[in-house]
Amino acid sequence: MTPFVRPDRCCPKCQHKGYLFRARRTVEAADGKFVETKYRCRVCPHQWWERVPAPPVQKPADEAA
Ligand SMILES: [Zn+2]
Repeated sequence: MTPFVRPDRCCPKCQHKGYLFRARRTVEAADGKFVETKYRCRVCPHQWWERVPAPPVQKPADEAA
């Protein structure tokens, strides 16, 4: 399993690296599923959504006949 690497995220408005998690939602687009996460900057009122491809659905391992 590939470990999830946290990107070096910062506020798009003031480039501050401190942020707060606000919300998460899954969206279905024409080219696949995405997870959108809402963040809020710690030092300015800016909030933004970040979209990443949704992780692939793991097939249950006990299906082997
Ligand atoms: Zn900011």
